[in-house]
Amino acid sequence: LHDGEVRRGDRLIQDGDLVIVYESYKQMKAVTVTKNGEFQNRYGLFMHNDWIGKPFGCKVTGKKGGFVHLLAPSPQLWTLVLTHRTQILYIMDISFVLAYLEVRPGCVVIESGTGSGSLTTALARAAAPTGHVYTFDFHEQRAEAARKDFERTGLSSFVTVSVRDIQGEGFPEEFASEVDAVFLDLPQPWLAIPSVAKSLKADSPVCSFSPCMEQVQRTCEALTTTQFRDLRTFEVLLRSYEVHEECFGTDLGLDSSNNESESAILSESSPPHKRLCSGNAEVIDSGEDRSQLSAKDNLIAKGSKKSRRRGEQLPGYVVARPEAEAKGHTGYLTFARRAV
Ligand code: SAM
Repeated sequence: LHDGEVRRGDRLIQDGDLVIVYESYKQMKAVTVTKNGEFQNRYGLFMHNDWIGKPFGCKVTGKKGGFVHLLAPSPQLWTLVLTHRTQILYIMDISFVLAYLEVRPGCVVIESGTGSGSLTTALARAAAPTGHVYTFDFHEQRAEAARKDFERTGLSSFVTVSVRDIQGEGFPEEFASEVDAVFLDLPQPWLAIPSVAKSLKADSPVCSFSPCMEQVQRTCEALTTTQFRDLRTFEVLLRSYEVHEECFGTDLGLDSSNNESESAILSESSPPHKRLCSGNAEVIDSGEDRSQLSAKDNLIAKGSKKSRRRGEQLPGYVVARPEAEAKGHTGYLTFARRAV
């Protein structure tokens, strides 16, 4: 959508709405729209008044001609923009947890600790509108900050945040055999397992997230000596690939008759570089990633340059390479089911 073109059924941005201002997939910010408010970024100054009445998803232009997109908040986007008060769970782990805990509308879920509320947001969204998430953290300020975030994201009626030492006291008695799923992200989760067993309905699942195998082992011991079965531990690893369209020079730049020196070629400013995005939209890279290319990539680029100089139009190929900064281990997810 360009500059606020409205279609039937579109949700329009209003004063007080939370929007995710999207510059690129690596640069997003949560902004609450206010009458006469301003948003400033490297593309210039944007007036909130120009956003009010436009549909979510639209592209808006700032005073200097730069643009951003205004996205409707979702748990996935919230995880990327929230304020980190602790380590958080990311989308790969979160989606796995939601699927294996079978969280769906109507579920009652209990969780500890709340931390920055990254997982809680996704749990609440999955359990709404008829279910509820009760989340516990022993850190008062963190609990209060999470409450404010749930107000901001519009989820506060589906989440209750309480201050409690779950490792010391366990979950409250009122949950006994009432709960559909439990999630633990605690330093010593095994201490909470007896209370998890009491809280869960028969045959319902628990998941515990731990960064190291020693904690997993202790949690598994506690699960097997309590009333749990079907223990499974997973590690979810994320590997992102950059997908580009590249023109391959026929000689891959190895033609010895061409005596341009490698340094002369490398010192040229990098050409803009076409990148394919979803929906086949094309964007031009700034070229800053060029410094991270491998020797082979440089040879390919070199071949393309020489061919361009010869005026040849080479076919483009879609190529993929793993991102230099691949996200590795975050933790282990241990699932189990309370015996019937
Ligand atoms: N899963 C959260 C997320 O995605 O944002 C992050 C949880 S954070 C890593 C762990 C939290 O557990 C911290 O906020 C900490 O205060 C809380 N915590 C640690 N020990 C606790 C205990 N005994 N009872 C309750 N909360 C505890």
